[in-house]
Amino acid sequence: MKVVVVGCTHAGTFAIKQTLASHPEAEVTVYEKNDNISFLSCGIALYLGKEIKNNDPQGLFYSSPEELKSLGADVEMKHEVTEIDPNQKIVKVKDLESGSVTETPYDKLIMTTGSLPVVPPIDGIQSDKVYLCKNWHDAKKLFDEAPKVKSITVIGSGYIGAELAEAYSKQGYQVNLLDGSTRVLYKYFDKKFTDILAADYEKNGVNLELGSKVTGFEEKNGGISVLTANGDEIHSDIAILCIGFRPNTGLLKGKVDMMPNGAIITDRYMHSSNPDIFAAGDSAAVHYNPTGQNAYIPLATNAVRQGILVGENLAEDKVKYMGTQSSSGLKLYDRTYVSTGLTMAAAKDQGINARQVIVEDNYRPEFMLTTEPVLMSLVYDPSTRRILGGSLTSMYDVSQSANVLSVAIQNQNTIDDLAMVDMLFQPQFDRPFNYLNILAQAAQAQEDKSKK
Ligand SMILES: Cc1cc2nc3c(=O)[nH]c(=O)nc-3n(C[C@H](O)[C@H](O)[C@H](O)COP(=O)(O)OP(=O)(O)OC[C@H]3O[C@@H](n4cnc5c(N)ncnc54)[C@H](O)[C@@H]3O)c2cc1C
Repeated sequence: MKVVVVGCTHAGTFAIKQTLASHPEAEVTVYEKNDNISFLSCGIALYLGKEIKNNDPQGLFYSSPEELKSLGADVEMKHEVTEIDPNQKIVKVKDLESGSVTETPYDKLIMTTGSLPVVPPIDGIQSDKVYLCKNWHDAKKLFDEAPKVKSITVIGSGYIGAELAEAYSKQGYQVNLLDGSTRVLYKYFDKKFTDILAADYEKNGVNLELGSKVTGFEEKNGGISVLTANGDEIHSDIAILCIGFRPNTGLLKGKVDMMPNGAIITDRYMHSSNPDIFAAGDSAAVHYNPTGQNAYIPLATNAVRQGILVGENLAEDKVKYMGTQSSSGLKLYDRTYVSTGLTMAAAKDQGINARQVIVEDNYRPEFMLTTEPVLMSLVYDPSTRRILGGSLTSMYDVSQSANVLSVAIQNQNTIDDLAMVDMLFQPQFDRPFNYLNILAQAAQAQEDKSKK
């Protein structure tokens, strides 16, 4: 079985390793247009915030072309696939150093070409002073610039922009954080949560410019001015664009089924609509369990899981994709923010019948020397009582509680399940009822009240 893998960061690396483990007879050829593999972009903000061991970004790679070669893959770095012919089952490949073009046949093709940053056609956006934050090359440019600049404008307050703004501000840079939305992290958290974060940014000197779209960039006084629809001009040494990603799937446009944004739609075994073409990671749609629909959620969590499934299912359908809740977390100014599934705002936007309960409670008893409040939200379907989403924030590390909620959504548990499910009690950790039990009990009480 000849297997061609197009693109090798996370989905590609995991797909290759699993393919070689599950199908030792497979001849695997990997084409990667870049000169590195497996870079963990989540380390960019951590490096800039000086939170990486020995300040060494090499720790942000967990594999290498050499490792994949030692496992049996033919790894062709700086080779770009320029065409895919699904009828003849051939890919055209350009060696980016020599410029030569060759053709390679395949029995199975693994499309792990990932995503590209969204760069809208705004005046001045191509300026050298506007940076991207996606891969190792972008990271190196930001790392090189960091000692030379004093002020930074971060555009987009999704989790990447939010983390960059925090990291730079903690290192003493003057930071502007811009977003067209009126709330930071609005896709991930409801207002009560984002209000806490907005206050923290302001406390730490970050200038929040929310609710206004960027209309242009102008190089000025050795720096860059960002112009907004409100008529503001925000000046800084550099700007970083973090406004989202789009699937990098042009090679298969019109050849396999895609979502309107170009994400490749797969079945539960990761086949595209062409059974010999598999897709995983940021190039593919996910099955979003809270709605039961396809969605585009570019996260490494999905990329590595889908990559493994491709490797397992290459020759026959063996392991079914479980879907995702899009669980994610951040630590900003020492506070943990975690979420899984739908926020109330997202449920409303999508016309989903949902109710929400928000509770604040200390994570452990007040008689302990210390405790911390936990702000929690639970979103559920009032007709089935099924849990659809949840978020938590606290100075206490509540990250694993989002994972508990993720399992509850995955398993279609109800607020009644979560209200009474067995959870350990010990005053070091929690009360006789864990704070998640208490959250679900509040949802039950809300439902009881609504029936009276
Ligand atoms: C700053 C940042 C922070 C993040 N933090 C988190 C986090 O904390 N948690 C989380 O879960 N996710 C996080 N993510 C998201 C995560 O990095 C992506 O979901 C993940 O990189 C997707 O992996 P992928 O392999 O599918 O695609 P990509 O990482 O996009 O890799 C695709 C690869 O394909 C190659 N390629 C593309 N086209 C071709 C071609 N024609 N020929 C050959 N090669 C090609 C590219 O060079 C690239 O190496 C973060 C992303 C960023 C940018």
